[in-house]
Amino acid sequence: MLLKIILFLIIGFALYKMFGGKFTLPRSKDDSKTMVQCDGCGAFVSEDETKVLDDKVYCSDCRRK
Ligand SMILES: [Zn+2]
Repeated sequence: MLLKIILFLIIGFALYKMFGGKFTLPRSKDDSKTMVQCDGCGAFVSEDETKVLDDKVYCSDCRRK
């Protein structure tokens, strides 16, 4: 009796997680963002996070220094 309830909960949770994963998949808009390499630290950051200074691209972290 109790084992059936536990099994039902596990299956329900597994299905919930499967559906939760499916809902997060269609996020291609974030991937299409232009990634730019920082000239200061070499890290790749999205274009709108960068600052151009003397023809060089800096991320927000390097810009603060
Ligand atoms: Zn940087």
